[in-house]
Amino acid sequence: MPGKSTITVHADRKVHPDRSVAPPIYQTAAFSVEDAETFAQAAVDRRGKDFYTRYGNPNHAQVAAVVAELEGTAAALVTASGMAALTTAVLALVSAGDHVIGQKSTYGGTASVLLNLLPRLGVSTTLVNQTEPEAFAKALTPKTRLILVETPSNPLLQVTDLRAVADLARAHDVLTLTDNTFATPLNQRPTDWGIDLVRHSATKYLNGHSDVSAGVLAGPAELLDRIWDVGLLTGAVLGPIDAWLLLRGMCTLPLRVPRHNTNGMALAEALNDHPAVSRVHYPGPTTHPQHELAADQMSGFGGVLGIEFTGGFEMADAFLGRLRYSRRSASLGGVESLAVHPASMWRGMLSEDQLAESVPPGLVRLAAGTEDTADLVADVLAAADAVLTAN
Ligand SMILES: *Cc1c(COP(=O)(O)O)cnc(C)c1O
Repeated sequence: MPGKSTITVHADRKVHPDRSVAPPIYQTAAFSVEDAETFAQAAVDRRGKDFYTRYGNPNHAQVAAVVAELEGTAAALVTASGMAALTTAVLALVSAGDHVIGQKSTYGGTASVLLNLLPRLGVSTTLVNQTEPEAFAKALTPKTRLILVETPSNPLLQVTDLRAVADLARAHDVLTLTDNTFATPLNQRPTDWGIDLVRHSATKYLNGHSDVSAGVLAGPAELLDRIWDVGLLTGAVLGPIDAWLLLRGMCTLPLRVPRHNTNGMALAEALNDHPAVSRVHYPGPTTHPQHELAADQMSGFGGVLGIEFTGGFEMADAFLGRLRYSRRSASLGGVESLAVHPASMWRGMLSEDQLAESVPPGLVRLAAGTEDTADLVADVLAAADAVLTAN
C-alpha cells in the first residue's frame, strides 16, 4: 500500500488514464456513445463516468478514486456539497416509519435534517449525547435503520467512540454513517473501526482552499450504488471544474493536515489557561475529558477548536473583531484561518431553541489555517488579552 501523499498524487490515474500530466477538465454535460447496445448499458452503469455528467464524469471518478483509497473503502461518490452527500444518503437508506439516531452535538445542517426534515417525511429521530457510551444503545429501537455520527463534532469537538457505535450497529443490523470532515482521512479512518459509510464536506479540508463547495461519500460499492440511484433523482451533481479543483486541492492534503494539527494544538494550549477563556474544546491536550478516546482513534486532532469566553456573546464577538489573521467566516479547513460565532451562523438552519440546546452563546469556533504557528498564537493571545482589559 503506497503512502498517503503518493495516493493523493497518483490514485486518480488508474480510473482515468490520460497522457497529459495535469488531468483535463471534462467540461461536458454528456458523452457520445457508438451504438444502441453500448448506450443502453451506459444508462444503467452505476457510478459510471462517461454517459451523462449527472450520472458521473471522469473528474468525479478521479476524486472518488483518491478519497476511496485514503478512506480504505471500495468506492466513493462525489456530490455538490457536504449536505447533498448527507441528504442523498439518508433518502436512499431510510423510509417513512424508520428511525434514525444522531448526535446532539453535530453540524447545524445535520441537526436540522434530524430535527426538522426527517420527521416531516415520517422518519423518527433521536439525538443522543455522544460522550455517553451507552446513549446510542438506549436510543436503539426495532425500527432503527441508521446511526449518524460526527467526530470530532462541529463546533464542540466532542468525540464519538467509533468502535463502540459500529459494534452496536452491526449487532442490530443497523447502518452507520460518520461525518469525517473535521478529522480528514489523514487523522482518522472510520472504516478501520467498523463504520459503514464516511461523509465529507469536501468544501473544507479535502479541497483546502476555500474555493469549492463539494461533498463525498465513501463506503462499500453496494451501498454507494443504492445512494447513486437516488443521487440521479436529487441531481446534486458537482460541476466538472469544481471536481477538478478538488482533485488538485487533495494532492496537498497530506502536507496541509500536519500543519493544521500543529496549529490547532498550539492555539488550544495557548488559550487553555487564559483568564478570558472558560473552556477550550479541543481533544489534543491530555486535560481534555475525552483525550484518551481521541488519541486512540485519531492520529492527529485537526485545526478546529471551540473557545468559550467568560464574558458570553459580547466577549466572543469582541474577540472575533480583534483577530488579525482569522477572518470572520462561516467556513473552515482552508489554508487561511477563519473564525466564527456558531450561535449566529446556524440561525438559518435551526430554531432559537434548537440552537440554545446545541451551542453555547459565548463560543467561538476557530479554524487554524496553515500560517506560521507563532503568528497565530500571538494573534489569539493579543485578542484575548484585549477583550479581558476591555471588559
Ligand atoms: C461544513 C460542514 C458540513 C456541510 O458541508 P457543505 O459542503 O457546506 O454542504 C457538514 N459537516 C460538517 C462537519 C461541516 O463542517
